[in-house]
Amino acid sequence: MRTLTVGVVAHVDAGKTSLTERILYEAGVLDHLGSVDTGDTQTDSLDLERRRGITIRSSVASFEWDDTLVNLLDTPGHSDFVAEVERALAVLDAAVLVVSAVEGVQAQTLVLMRALQRLRLPALLFVNKLDRAGADPDRVLAQVAERLTSGAVPLGVAEAPGGRDAAYEPFPLSAAERADLRTRTRAGDVHPVVFGSAITGVGVRALLDAVNDLVADDAVDPCREPAGVVFKLERTPTGQRRTLVRMTGGTLRVRDRLTLTGGGGVGGGGVGGGSTDTGAGHGAGSAGERVTGIEVFGPGGPRPADAVDAGRIAVLRGPMGARVGDTFGPRRHRGSAVELARPSLETVVDPVDPRDRGRLFTALTELAEQDPLIDLRLDDGRGEVAVSLYGEVQKEVIATFLAQDHGVLASFRPTTPVCVERVLGPGSAHRLIDVAPNPFLATVGLRVEPAEVGSGVDLGLEVELGSMPPAFFTAVRARGCGPPWPSPSTAGLSRTAGWS
Ligand code: GDP
Repeated sequence: MRTLTVGVVAHVDAGKTSLTERILYEAGVLDHLGSVDTGDTQTDSLDLERRRGITIRSSVASFEWDDTLVNLLDTPGHSDFVAEVERALAVLDAAVLVVSAVEGVQAQTLVLMRALQRLRLPALLFVNKLDRAGADPDRVLAQVAERLTSGAVPLGVAEAPGGRDAAYEPFPLSAAERADLRTRTRAGDVHPVVFGSAITGVGVRALLDAVNDLVADDAVDPCREPAGVVFKLERTPTGQRRTLVRMTGGTLRVRDRLTLTGGGGVGGGGVGGGSTDTGAGHGAGSAGERVTGIEVFGPGGPRPADAVDAGRIAVLRGPMGARVGDTFGPRRHRGSAVELARPSLETVVDPVDPRDRGRLFTALTELAEQDPLIDLRLDDGRGEVAVSLYGEVQKEVIATFLAQDHGVLASFRPTTPVCVERVLGPGSAHRLIDVAPNPFLATVGLRVEPAEVGSGVDLGLEVELGSMPPAFFTAVRARGCGPPWPSPSTAGLSRTAGWS
């Protein structure tokens, strides 16, 4: 059975959660409809989400539609959680962008559409809330054409908008028109539009038919070697780590070894076959971590399995070092290149009880594994921990995780903008260390030069390798900028150490 991974994205309150719930109901996965207003939807699983009525973590819900298994990702719309949206986009075959027929195109709708267009990710628009007073599908369609995309193609018309009788009438398309639409949707050139209501269910089946017909699972690499991307990390109530991956190629089996490539997947990590430790595709010098269990998402939730195939979403047990955004296998998935916005705010986190400082740091480290963009920083001198944020609501989310999962009560200092210091021009200095009783005669020098913005820090030695004992080189490296010692290149930032 072919598999499609589809994300629902929207500005907050446009109705993604309600639409997800309605889709699961129409697909027969739910036997009754939950409501965001009473806090009993299938996908909003976190307590905080229920209380606030917003979706924070992406959730996976699977169903069958005709001959297709659809993994639906319900993603957050609140701008404080834009990083979660980024992760969700990284694993999609297509997106459904929900626009309210009342409020129309909103700030986050624009941000999301730009990201979808950059990716050329096939995207359909669902103009929701057709039943609500004030719904004006014609005005919203004009807005979409003007502000979102010149490729909006309505697949039908809305009738009697603004009341419970609101309906949607699809156009009968000829086979040739449908084939053309399919090609152009898959290329990301056009964005088909369906009108409807998540509350009354109007247009929802038509939306699913359109997704099934127009979208392809061509993000899946037919190569034999297993490949995938980590898009979420979870822990069970007993603390077991669960790694959620979307497979983009091949078949991954229990007992395979995974070599993950970090930070959104530059280059290729790999998978070692069977129980051998040296199978093809291993990352340099690493045998990887063994997968000890696999659960594959299908209707009714994840089920234990021996293997997971290309296209599927699975929960892996075993890999302890995985981070969100890591990839494995030979091909970099298109989504790993997506960048929406980096956090521009930061705050210092303090334990309410000073004795909890160690536990606070451990808990934040765990959170940083799940959400690398919080960019946890420890200031040794001041004994402070700082995290990056998109906005104030994120503080509440972090506080809730710390309290519920780790029993640590935390307070946050006022939010400040993240300051980035950049080297503007070259500079150098050196120091002679030959003062008694220091038994060593030593010179330490440092030279800095600006590199291209965004290219990172390059650290290089400008002394001959034989000029001091190897252990000293290692020590200098360890006191350097943190990342492994790069090749002898000295481009960008250089650090010079010389001993005589
Ligand atoms: P999300 O923030 O995008 O997930 O939006 P929700 O699904 O939480 O919906 C936000 C509000 O809009 C809730 O009060 C929903 O009941 C309401 N809502 C969502 N879809 C519809 C719809 O199609 N019609 C009407 N009348 N209300 C809707």
